[in-house]
Amino acid sequence: MTEYISKLLAGVKAKNPAEPEFHQAVEEFLESVAIVMERHPEYRSANILERLIEPERIIIFRVPWMNDQGDIHVNRGMRVEYNSAIGPYKGGIRFHPSVTLGTLKFLGFEQTFKNALTTLPMGGGKGGSDFDPKGKSDNEIMRFCQSFMNELFRHIGPDTDVPAGDIGVGGREVGYMFGQYKRIKNEFTGVFTGKGINWGGSLIRPEATGFGAVYFVQEMLKTKGQGIEGKTFALSGFGNVAWGAALKINQLGGKVLTLSGPDGFIIDPDGVKGEKVDYLLKLRKSNKDAIEEYAKEFKVEFFPGKRPWGVKVDVAIPCATQNELNENDAKELVKNGLTCLGEAANMPTTLEGYKVFRDAGVLFAPGKAANAGGVATSGLEMSQNSMRLPWSAVEVDKRLHEIMVRIHNNCLQTAERFGTPGNYVNGANIAGFLKVADAMMDQGLV
Ligand code: GLU
Repeated sequence: MTEYISKLLAGVKAKNPAEPEFHQAVEEFLESVAIVMERHPEYRSANILERLIEPERIIIFRVPWMNDQGDIHVNRGMRVEYNSAIGPYKGGIRFHPSVTLGTLKFLGFEQTFKNALTTLPMGGGKGGSDFDPKGKSDNEIMRFCQSFMNELFRHIGPDTDVPAGDIGVGGREVGYMFGQYKRIKNEFTGVFTGKGINWGGSLIRPEATGFGAVYFVQEMLKTKGQGIEGKTFALSGFGNVAWGAALKINQLGGKVLTLSGPDGFIIDPDGVKGEKVDYLLKLRKSNKDAIEEYAKEFKVEFFPGKRPWGVKVDVAIPCATQNELNENDAKELVKNGLTCLGEAANMPTTLEGYKVFRDAGVLFAPGKAANAGGVATSGLEMSQNSMRLPWSAVEVDKRLHEIMVRIHNNCLQTAERFGTPGNYVNGANIAGFLKVADAMMDQGLV
């Protein structure tokens, strides 16, 4: 790390205390782009990095709501409008008790470069709340979403900031928030993505993050003359992302051996396929947030309190959450002969874990590249909304596939151009950075 970069990072840590996830995302990024700053002094004189490590705008608000018993609760709502150099702020909303401002800043930062990689005109943003949907009734979730939107509505719009789903926010929550927005504004616009299919949503959007990650893995394997067929997969999580990935892996002839939840993980030796994949949708709707239910339903083994990274597989696709795979997990996977890892969640691997994979020569795709299919398809939903014309599932899937191949090739070529061939982390960070930085340079000191 150059002196300039270390100083910047120290500054980020001092200025944003108690935000370790934000520090981590910035550190990984700065390590990659250090070489660009050496080759391109014009970015340095424009203080582009100093500007990029500061979000454009952050909104924090109170969300009061009433439970079914009539008790009043208060949560914190937030939206980080991170960067709008290449389009309106775009990114999901997360409802989870672990959500802090630091979480949303790290996610908004990642989103900015991820969205740049998609090739579509979207800036970066992220929002959410420390609200815990677990165990809540449908009515409680609706009241919370409406209260959240009673404040957020004034900050978003189809040309300003377009939220979507993330952990704890799926089609149901998007529906409640969109409904409230429409009621307040008296406007039916594409202000959200991930909408229901009857009211402006896009086909394939629910599947897109998982599909996209598998398409990316497929491209990485191709560079080694390999394919998905016959390969075994460890997936973590059981939500929307793991569901989409499992669907696509099965279609392409791979076998999904594991899934996980906050309570532990399961191994299904016959593979998570057919009705078992459909079951994941039911599980998500139950608001129980536990994978043990799957083990009971299909009589497979459940490992309480453990993560699936000790299982011998060819490919790992973490689909759950940040820092769910650490250095020891990485060593275990490498020892068991892992060929490839695609991050379908945002920053699921710790920095130390990533270094183990890098040094072992494992094909490693960072989230901002591998999971970009979700937001890319959100971009396609925005296009359809603007045209007021829906595309068929085949059309959307074809575009998604093309986008993922393009992102893969861009990462690979950029990594090569900047002296680290095969390093997708550097490729993704640098390619995303160049696009955003050039747009910022073009637009002057904003
Ligand atoms: N939450 C997803 C992500 O992390 C999707 C965001 C979107 O579609 O706007 O990329």
